[in-house]
Amino acid sequence: MRIGIYGGTFNPIHRGHLSAASAAAEQLRLDKLLLIPDAVPPHKPLPPGSAAGADRLEMAQLCTGELPVFTEVSDMELRRQGASYTCDTLIALREQYPTDELFLLMGSDMFLSFETWNRPSTICRMATLAVFSRQEADEAAAFARQKEKLERAYNARITLVRNPHVIEVSSTQLRERLADGTGRAYLTEPVYGYILRKGLYGTVTDLKHLAPDQLRPIALSYLKPKRMPHVLGTEREAAFLAEKYGADVTAARIAALLHDCTKKLELAQQLSLCRHYGIELDAVERSFFVLLHSKTGAAVARDRFGVSEEVYNAIYYHTTGKADMTLLEKIIYLADYIEPSRSFPGVEELRRAVHEDLNRGLYEALEDSVREMQGYGSPVHHRTQEALDYMKRQIGGTKE
Ligand code: ATP
Repeated sequence: MRIGIYGGTFNPIHRGHLSAASAAAEQLRLDKLLLIPDAVPPHKPLPPGSAAGADRLEMAQLCTGELPVFTEVSDMELRRQGASYTCDTLIALREQYPTDELFLLMGSDMFLSFETWNRPSTICRMATLAVFSRQEADEAAAFARQKEKLERAYNARITLVRNPHVIEVSSTQLRERLADGTGRAYLTEPVYGYILRKGLYGTVTDLKHLAPDQLRPIALSYLKPKRMPHVLGTEREAAFLAEKYGADVTAARIAALLHDCTKKLELAQQLSLCRHYGIELDAVERSFFVLLHSKTGAAVARDRFGVSEEVYNAIYYHTTGKADMTLLEKIIYLADYIEPSRSFPGVEELRRAVHEDLNRGLYEALEDSVREMQGYGSPVHHRTQEALDYMKRQIGGTKE
């Protein structure tokens, strides 16, 4: 495997980092990229007002879906005590990947000061240096001189990566901009949302009663990257259905954006939220912990974002449904089910049914869902069965 290793303080990770890493991944034909936030950078101590290691790690994780290669974020330097020396990281990675080809990615500033690093010859023995520019100005002559010098001194293997979309920004500049209320364009949306949600770098945001456009990046920051298209698709579908069937479009967008806000949490974290919010669980919820996120998500949405009762309920019932759902509850249940990134067999027909007649579509979705659970041998939650029975009575004889 060809593995890229990209270390940095990532305080915060920005589009400059991502654009260079994407170019390296493509030109080096990497099979995998490791993003490794450092604990204590050897060259420049963390300035006051920096984000904690756990936050820098989380922000890097939020970006993995933006890169054109399978990307993992490693906490190996954050777990290690003391200064984060790249040579120690490479020694550990060499053990983990004894036969793979390692490429150490770095920008011009790092490359041009490479002799000052700890044990440069060890680094050069273990990895090829993959170097890119981080500024528009032509650095070819300086690169060539340094390349020759390091090849002679350490027998270094060096490959130059063309960075066709240089984004001239540093994390230092960005921290200043964020404190002034600017800088969003240099960040991915989920990272920007994470910064606002956590109040990092001097940002101050009142999270209560945000409009959908303000809420969107914050909602994305709660998700695993692979779930982001689903939540954006649910928002789009919910807005469409709300428009079509006369519901409050803003409420629909907000409920859709937050409906999975606790989905990525592990069982222990879900249970801790249940204790915190006094959420009671029935027998099915206790054994199918995937059901918990609708209750914990609704509680977080109300507590942190001050959502209305109708939005709270739409999130609360989005997984199981219930008898006699409100228009917004139906819309969120269905938008989650049929949003554009869903691709299960029969989804096209179901979409058509929902777009022609919301109640008939809901009936079919509930039937489909119960049939699927029975097929897996999973117990059907009593609220889903009650929802189906209720809709059957509503639709009455009209269903063929
Ligand atoms: P700071 O301003 O806090 O010193 P930084 O923006 O220089 O941070 P780091 O996280 O320290 O970022 O850098 C990690 C790696 O990313 C380094 O190899 C650096 O050269 C590279 N890098 C940083 N910014 C850019 C950029 N805009 N374009 C390309 N590479 C970059």
